[in-house]
Amino acid sequence: MNARRCDIAILGGGLAGGLIALALARYRPDLSLLIVEQDTRLGGNHVWSFFETDADPEATELLRPMLAATWTHYNVHFPRHSRKLHTNYSAMTSERFDAVLREALRPEAILSGQAVKACSETEVMLGDGTLVSAGGVIDTRGLRNVSHLTGGWQKFVGRKFRLKAPHGLERPIVMDATVEQVDGYRFMYALPFADDIVFLEDTYYSDDSTLDRPLIERRIDAYLAARGWEVEELINEEYGVLPVVAGGDFAKFWRDGGDETARAGSRAGLFHSLTSYSVPDAVRFALALAHHDAFDGASLKAFSEKWAKGHWENQSYYRMLSALLFGGAYPEERLRILERFYTLNPQLIERFYSGRSTRFDKFRILAGIPPIPIPRALGTITGLGRQPAPLNFSGV
Ligand SMILES: Cc1cc2nc3c(=O)[nH]c(=O)nc-3n(C[C@H](O)[C@H](O)[C@H](O)COP(=O)(O)OP(=O)(O)OC[C@H]3O[C@@H](n4cnc5c(N)ncnc54)[C@H](O)[C@@H]3O)c2cc1C
Repeated sequence: MNARRCDIAILGGGLAGGLIALALARYRPDLSLLIVEQDTRLGGNHVWSFFETDADPEATELLRPMLAATWTHYNVHFPRHSRKLHTNYSAMTSERFDAVLREALRPEAILSGQAVKACSETEVMLGDGTLVSAGGVIDTRGLRNVSHLTGGWQKFVGRKFRLKAPHGLERPIVMDATVEQVDGYRFMYALPFADDIVFLEDTYYSDDSTLDRPLIERRIDAYLAARGWEVEELINEEYGVLPVVAGGDFAKFWRDGGDETARAGSRAGLFHSLTSYSVPDAVRFALALAHHDAFDGASLKAFSEKWAKGHWENQSYYRMLSALLFGGAYPEERLRILERFYTLNPQLIERFYSGRSTRFDKFRILAGIPPIPIPRALGTITGLGRQPAPLNFSGV
């Protein structure tokens, strides 16, 4: 049997695992790392976006080399209003993520194309039979079972195109909800990476996790055609089905499938309950861990569990909003809720995305929430009325 040793083994080289490795390499170069990823590329196949106000200066600094683009404004479009907002918006790509990590880490710290079979607080068994002994193990292998939680789904297909002529988009469109409303709340999302390159994502806030990729690809084609954009080349496609969490039993979620190791990323529930986005939480956790002082398996586990519980508690307001969206509102009413949200103060919107809403923000978001009648909203909030369903993933 092959054997390896390291101070910290990071299981999964996706967003959370990669950022933990990067932060440790920067702040704790004395520690030997091993990041184990089943795919050949670190970071999978993603365009990850976030608002610069989601991250504090130290986090922004860590992410900067991974950025493929930054824009100073973005647009939203709804049937009743359009708006241009002035907030820096950035996108990272998996290609850059992989390249930056390979440059920052020692070659022996990356084991890609190798799956983890089993793990404990201090040991990892790999698919080829190698046994890794580590001072501490942290599991970031992506979301596991969410059936102990309730809510709905944010699902999407994103396609990056090279067009035959410039598209004329000056800035991202973070929501274009003027499109036909089907399968819950639907919007298109557009990122102009270059004059002739655009990333288009068709997104749904749906009760159902089924993703009909060919159908959504045809809707993206229709969006292109409606704008007179002719495609030279399809560069890439990605898709996702992400939970929007409205409630549930965090302790069961944490224990499900065993709780033998420390955990981070979506596996630890570290994402925004309503937007499902996890870049801000992934970078915050990575930096907090790198500044922590104990890296043995038991300390890492205690640290990550405490952090994840704290995150769950801090997200209670956003879970209540998810409950209103998926329980209080009927699918066809979701558009009006988002449309109204985007009339609010830009700083309130920034704080909402970064999960740092103030008390006044929370009141303001709820005050006069249309179009849910107050008795129905109260029924959902008190648990006596319409509730979101358990999150049963039915597959892509
Ligand atoms: C297509 C897509 C786009 C998204 N866009 C955004 C966005 O713009 N902004 C945002 O904030 N969030 C976005 N998200 C949501 C969230 O940020 C991502 O899902 C994020 O990648 C989650 O990070 P993670 O590290 O928890 O999981 P992942 O990034 O999925 O990483 C888990 C890694 O573990 C590996 N793995 C799994 N099992 C094993 C095993 N047995 N052995 C070894 N390795 C294993 C996987 O291959 C994967 O690389 C997006 C999600 C998707 C799917």
